[in-house]
Amino acid sequence: MVRALYECEVCGYIYVRREDAEECERFCSEHNACNREIIKRAYGRKNG
Ligand SMILES: [Zn+2]
Repeated sequence: MVRALYECEVCGYIYVRREDAEECERFCSEHNACNREIIKRAYGRKNG
């Protein structure tokens, strides 16, 4: 089974749930930084 993963286009964190990726992306573009509470749910990061 292939698991769909969602990426925050701003910071590059990968999420299993699309809602989390969208929340991260929204926060990242508004604050120009990541929300630690959100990235705790991240599956991983694109580069590293
Ligand atoms: Zn992000």
